[in-house]
Amino acid sequence: MRFGYAFPEHKSDMRTWWSTSLVLVPILPIVFFLYFTDWHIQKIVFTNSYRDVTLGPAYSFYGLVFLGYMSAAFWQLFKKFKKTSGLERLQFKYIMAGTLIAIVVGAFFNLLLPWLGNYQLIWLGPLATVAMVVLVAYAIFKHHLFSIKVVATEVFTGILLLLLFVNIFSSTTSTQYIFSTIIFLAAAGFGWLLIRSVLFEVSSREKIAKLAKQLQTVNDKLQQVDKVKTEFISIASHQLRTPLTIIKGYTSMALEGTFGRYTKQQHDVMDKLFQSANRLINLVEDLLNISRLEQGRIEYEYKVIDPVALVRGVVEELEPKAKKKGLRLIFIKPKHSVPHIRADEQKIRQVYINVIDNAVKYTEKGSVTVSLHREEDKVRFESVDTGIGITKDDLSTLFHKFVRGSHVTQMYTEGVGLGLYFARKVAENHGGKIWAESSGKDQGSKFIVELPMAS
Ligand code: ADP
Repeated sequence: MRFGYAFPEHKSDMRTWWSTSLVLVPILPIVFFLYFTDWHIQKIVFTNSYRDVTLGPAYSFYGLVFLGYMSAAFWQLFKKFKKTSGLERLQFKYIMAGTLIAIVVGAFFNLLLPWLGNYQLIWLGPLATVAMVVLVAYAIFKHHLFSIKVVATEVFTGILLLLLFVNIFSSTTSTQYIFSTIIFLAAAGFGWLLIRSVLFEVSSREKIAKLAKQLQTVNDKLQQVDKVKTEFISIASHQLRTPLTIIKGYTSMALEGTFGRYTKQQHDVMDKLFQSANRLINLVEDLLNISRLEQGRIEYEYKVIDPVALVRGVVEELEPKAKKKGLRLIFIKPKHSVPHIRADEQKIRQVYINVIDNAVKYTEKGSVTVSLHREEDKVRFESVDTGIGITKDDLSTLFHKFVRGSHVTQMYTEGVGLGLYFARKVAENHGGKIWAESSGKDQGSKFIVELPMAS
């Protein structure tokens, strides 16, 4: 719930503003009757102990207008109250209770009793407004009703304008009179702008807070979905692993001739079965690794290792694959000594394999050059290839889960986009980082893995 007079900002607001202002019209005749005629109060006779007031015919009109305004205002409040819930409902209850007390008690002592000729208890009416003020103040401070900032600005501006307005009438010369009026008008203008900007700021902040809350809810839901998905992948992969291992085992035995000799055609079919089972097992292993990583179930066995020996071993392992494609896979012997790293050997080995294997996979002709060197307190691994390159857009997303380059999906059907994600996670968990550089499509690529040296 916000407090404050809504200043018109758009044309449609302007229309509402004018129609709202029409509500004030009935006050004009009252002011007229009160100040320029004796229709409202005909005469007041002061005696020592009491005042004798004779009311005029316009007093009934005043009573009706008063009750009309109060009922309409209360009805508006009630209509809004019905749409509220939670804290806002509680705030409305305080306001309605305060307003109702003020209306009923005020109307009784200040309207009805004087109308019946009793002026003795008229002082009780204003006391009822104290109840209203107390209840509203309680709602403000205890339940953060209205923005205190807006209330303070409006009250401050109101007091200032009142003082400046009174000041106009204390002018003695016409110059002073004009001067005070100008100051009053200028202050009114600035006050209007001030309140407007505070209202705007408060409403912007409210909107931002609301959006942040919505975002948080969506985020929580997404995390929940992500968790369920990871659990699903984990369970499904476990279930797949056993039958796949059995298929792989039997096909391997068949290829070795355990079940008798095959013709060349039968042997080729069996070989394809074996390769496919192998690929599926690798995929299942990748998926299991990813779900372990995400569930924080992966454990690292750190020890001090020589990265040069590790990378050399990986290069030797992948050389036959490169050769088969007619590629040169080169490992440049480091010129200076490369420090050891503290790492989980198996996992870091897998990171290097993923990167070099990709370089071989995504290069059709030319070479893949692998090197290691020290870079301040880091050990930097680089793999440079003359392959298909990476577009600028892809560079930023390749290390995300299940993401593949936009121009590889049709040509290189083998692959699911998990290798680099795994490499990034492992590198980060080792306190290092991995990134790629490329000038674009068909311009080759460079992958860099940086790991902290062992202290
Ligand atoms: P996958 O190779 O299974 O698709 P990765 O996570 O290992 O998954 O790699 C993600 C994507 O990064 C690949 O699909 C490919 O588009 C791109 N990529 C990786 N290495 C290279 C490389 N050396 N040259 C060009 N693109 C590469």
